[in-house]
Amino acid sequence: MRVLALLDGTHVDPESPLLRADDLGVQRGDGVFETILAVDGKPRELQPHLDRLRRSARLMDLRPPEDADWHRAVGAVLEQWPWESEPELAVKLVCTRGVDGGDGTPTAFATGQSLSAELLRKRDEGVSAVTLERGIDPDLTERAPWLLLSAKTLSYAVNMAALREAERRGAEEVVFTATDGSVLEGPTSTVVLAEGNTLVTPPPSAGILRGTTQGALFRAASTAGWNTSVEPVSVERLRTADGLWLASSIRLITQVHTLDGERVTVDPELHRRVRGIYEAQY
Ligand code: PLP
Repeated sequence: MRVLALLDGTHVDPESPLLRADDLGVQRGDGVFETILAVDGKPRELQPHLDRLRRSARLMDLRPPEDADWHRAVGAVLEQWPWESEPELAVKLVCTRGVDGGDGTPTAFATGQSLSAELLRKRDEGVSAVTLERGIDPDLTERAPWLLLSAKTLSYAVNMAALREAERRGAEEVVFTATDGSVLEGPTSTVVLAEGNTLVTPPPSAGILRGTTQGALFRAASTAGWNTSVEPVSVERLRTADGLWLASSIRLITQVHTLDGERVTVDPELHRRVRGIYEAQY
């Protein structure tokens, strides 16, 4: 990590300790976060990220800081970033429930960190993925809101374990599936496929995050004359699609070239067009 800022805009040494040992974010993963891409000094989709953070916090009865505070913290991170040498930056906003037995004041901060070489390589070369069961049915979100299925909480241990399982199976990424076999999302990404002139993604109501990158891509694609559809997707459709991607703020729109050990359609021209449509709006 290179830059750390508090909500009052103060810079803190990123190498020195910041949290108390009894912070509930540390002890229970009880908190929310967002990861935002900033390019050449400008954050992308900042408001949709702040809206999603607020929604996640509401789902878990957490009182998040005001948007103005986040703006100040993000501004402080951007201000310290060495843009000349690194034109891209991952800004992370973190908000925990604060200390155990405290008065409910959240712990909140923003960090800025470089993108890893591996992530940049995957953006260019694409990834192999495996489907893994998530063990939820698509109606569970509404029936069991306490499971926080559509919140971006700090409890990502399962998501990270799934990525390690993918690695054990010789793949780099995961596509989670529901109990009915439908497609959900990646551990840190939204699934997007192309069928002819239509871009498709599974619905957030199935218990997945509403992706800001997918949202931005679909917005730009509609303007560019594409059809977009948010609908249930079977794994079979991933295999027969004209293009398959994992989308997220930092990885952008990364092509999937292999699913469960089988090659899927990779069309470099289609990929170039889809990435181009997404990029052209910034
Ligand atoms: N789904 C999950 C579980 C994620 O963690 C993320 C982002 O990290 C996404 C989807 C994609 O969201 P965004 O495009 O807003 O980064």
